[in-house]
Amino acid sequence: MFRFRTAIVIVLCCVVLLGTALMLARLLVPKRADDFRAGVPAVGLPDVATCTEVRIRYFPSALDYMAETAQERAVLSQEEIGELATQEWIVVEDAEYIHTLVRTLASVTYDGPAQGTVRTKDVVLFACYRGDERVGSFTLFGKNLIETENAERFRCAPRPGEAAFLYPPRIQALVHRIGCLRHLLRLHNDVRRLFYRNGGPVPPPEKWCDLLTRASREAGLGSDHLQVALSCPGAEEGRCHYALNEACKWDSPGEMVLLFETKAGWNQHGGLELFAFDNHDPRGGCVLLNDGTVKFIRIEQELHALRWR
Ligand SMILES: [Zn+2]
Repeated sequence: MFRFRTAIVIVLCCVVLLGTALMLARLLVPKRADDFRAGVPAVGLPDVATCTEVRIRYFPSALDYMAETAQERAVLSQEEIGELATQEWIVVEDAEYIHTLVRTLASVTYDGPAQGTVRTKDVVLFACYRGDERVGSFTLFGKNLIETENAERFRCAPRPGEAAFLYPPRIQALVHRIGCLRHLLRLHNDVRRLFYRNGGPVPPPEKWCDLLTRASREAGLGSDHLQVALSCPGAEEGRCHYALNEACKWDSPGEMVLLFETKAGWNQHGGLELFAFDNHDPRGGCVLLNDGTVKFIRIEQELHALRWR
């Protein structure tokens, strides 16, 4: 009798332990589609590694997806605006871009069958081709929710720099330009908030990066966000790609240049001789005027037409 009871207790303990272990395993191991493993496309996702072409469509249009405001569109030419607003499918054959997409899809995590509609206005459709053969497609909602043709959902968490899969090279150049504008707007905000308040002077030109970093830290804004804002997304390396026009003061006219694009450096200050056209492709650079306007300057004549003093 005693042995029988002991046996039952042992069996029950085993069942409880096994159940607990299974529950823990479900909680600790990220959910993935059954046959997903590293390097093999997740269920329902097209095998992009074998594709020669990816067609991308942004909704409602590439223009709305990339540049929502009139301020952001101000750094695009009329020709670029027209093309982005009307082009439906962007065809990409660039091998490096396709490789970036392969890497991104290889690191997705299974999220489960699609349920309900996704509330986001940012939608991108990717259709993948091998020659003329359509291999498959998937939809990206927001920045990281992927839905396959057979209604399975995955989460992707692109590593820094890998959000590149969102934009093929030609579009990326325009995204960098708009990013550069956003950085300058952020710097304009910081300069006004940290230096111009109470009618204070602009920072001493020879220390402006140091003082802006210190003031940002003291104001509890953190220096990371400032460090990002100080660099041009189109430039490859360096801490800061903007120079201060030393002639500009807080009460200077609104159309006077305050900050402008230059090569990599720190605390750079001076005038238009420091302007760099090379951080962007197509060639050009951004300037921030004292009233917060940002312009994209493509040629020397435009540069000289700006108010520098
Ligand atoms: Zn730039």
